[in-house]
Amino acid sequence: MYYNNNTLIYLDGKFVKASEATTDLYCQTLHYGYGVFEGIRAYATETGTRVFKAKEHYNRLKNSAALINIPFDYSTQELVDATYELLEKNNLNDAYVRPLVFCDPNMSLARPNNVSIMICAWEWGAYLGDKRLRLTVSSYCRPHPRSIKIEAKVCGHYVNSILATNEAKDKGFDEALLLDSDGYLAEGPGANLFFEKNGVLFTPQLGNILPGITRATVLELAEKLGVEVKQGLYKPEVLVSADSAFFCGTAAEVIGIESVDERKFPKSWNESLGRKLQEAYSRLIRNSEKILSTTH
Ligand code: PMP
Repeated sequence: MYYNNNTLIYLDGKFVKASEATTDLYCQTLHYGYGVFEGIRAYATETGTRVFKAKEHYNRLKNSAALINIPFDYSTQELVDATYELLEKNNLNDAYVRPLVFCDPNMSLARPNNVSIMICAWEWGAYLGDKRLRLTVSSYCRPHPRSIKIEAKVCGHYVNSILATNEAKDKGFDEALLLDSDGYLAEGPGANLFFEKNGVLFTPQLGNILPGITRATVLELAEKLGVEVKQGLYKPEVLVSADSAFFCGTAAEVIGIESVDERKFPKSWNESLGRKLQEAYSRLIRNSEKILSTTH
């Protein structure tokens, strides 16, 4: 359960009980998936709770709304402040934070005049667990960037992620790996992909993937650690001959990949670049010095 009788959510400038908050069944977002959201994590640090990369997430939320013509004029700072207040009111330290911008009742396909924002938070462990993942290449591809705004985190896009996840789990795998519509490696249903070959790290370039905030953090950490990273378009065959691989995302953090369609990566996880970056990421999210974050 994500909430109890005492849980508060933020709704349009007010804190209200989650159990009493309502929305309209004629809401455009519910019918057409026309809304935007974020997934953020907060961590307990020595100097208190820190919302990791809060500004980056709220900037992306605003950008997602703008990209699909949803009028949403909150400032990033207002949203960051509301998030800290929400966590405090709910006594949450380590938490997952979910902001959702949703539209007014409107059965037409015209853009809305008014939108609402809700932010809720709950304790949530590692999304994909902590064991190495067994992936399968999905029969679903990521939506074509000319069909949607791929860099926006839009509610409706996640039907693609849900279909891919269900298919992978039905086939007995932990998670899916999706290609783009040209057959290049893209991303997971909710995470970005990196792989290692001969001491170099590779990741699909931006354009056909969600620009992950964790991906950007991993790129910064790799640079700090002196690890060379290449970004490009890679076919699945390149991944199949890689030494090791990992997914990264806010919910999943950094998580190793054991195999793709039963083909195991040869390098032991503990010796991989992914493991090094996983450790660096764990240190960073708990770090009260905010080395790489521009947040707060
Ligand atoms: N790709 C997709 C499709 C996602 O849903 C997510 C999760 N937001 C990611 C990548 C990783 O993004 P982030 O690191 O910003 O959470």
